[in-house]
Amino acid sequence: MRYGLDIGGTKIEIVVFDRDFKVIDTARVATPSDNYPHFIQTICQLVSQRDRQYSCIGSVGIGLPGVQETDTSKQISSNIPCLTGQYVARDLEKELKRKVNIDNDSRCFALCEALTGAGQGNGRVFAAVLGTGVGGGLVLDGKLYRGASGIAGEWGHMPISAHLVNQYGLFVKQCNCGLYGCLEHYISGTGLSNLCQHFLEEDLQAEQLLQRITDKDAQALHVYQVFIDILCSGFANLQLTYDVDIIVLGGGLSNIKRLYADLQQRLPHFLFKGIQAVSIVPAQFGDSSGVRGAALLAN
Ligand SMILES: [Zn+2]
Repeated sequence: MRYGLDIGGTKIEIVVFDRDFKVIDTARVATPSDNYPHFIQTICQLVSQRDRQYSCIGSVGIGLPGVQETDTSKQISSNIPCLTGQYVARDLEKELKRKVNIDNDSRCFALCEALTGAGQGNGRVFAAVLGTGVGGGLVLDGKLYRGASGIAGEWGHMPISAHLVNQYGLFVKQCNCGLYGCLEHYISGTGLSNLCQHFLEEDLQAEQLLQRITDKDAQALHVYQVFIDILCSGFANLQLTYDVDIIVLGGGLSNIKRLYADLQQRLPHFLFKGIQAVSIVPAQFGDSSGVRGAALLAN
């Protein structure tokens, strides 16, 4: 059996997969986010209960928010406060007496979509998450590319183009990461709300903005077009850096139906003349990509 665990700020989901990667069992518990020993104990209980239930020693893969050091898997940053600075994989391996593979939740999503989802059959896949934040992962020939220090794929913290800031009179704010003008401030779910606040002086969610566009509101359409241009400039940077075969989108904003046609139409404006824009497609497994990718880490 393979156990995939998707650990979020509020809940931990465990899914048991059989040898053919079929879902056998799934369970959710609350994340003990401010007590590290309790956090470790909770995961060990989830795993050992299933070992007993299925009379096996299942392999464990875990998707965690934040950034882990490549060599040591020390948790550098996390939205689960008690994990920062901890060696989660090492501590779990000691308790569970088996290998525990941990990676960033966006990379688990990338692995799932590249190997079994919308990116399947392509040698070079970038999977981008447009959720509360912006994350991503690069999968080359079926393997995750983590980089020298574990930050490969963190494209949400690339800076916005100065040209777009000038063209649209955009704000530039300091990000939690310490840098200024990170793409995440414009193209995440929160980012799109920031753009609505900036141009319309209203706090709108994506669905509300889209409804206004359907109702022929020209200002709402302008906000959406600015959003598409910023997103395209980010994807153009990814294409120029990694030159992948396909980009797969996940996260809440990837559910915007018109997004894909709009991106494909605008992306060539952000690339050299003569370069064909990369295909951008929605994820196949949606919310379950993270836990499936975590199980794919397990070996
Ligand atoms: Zn940043």
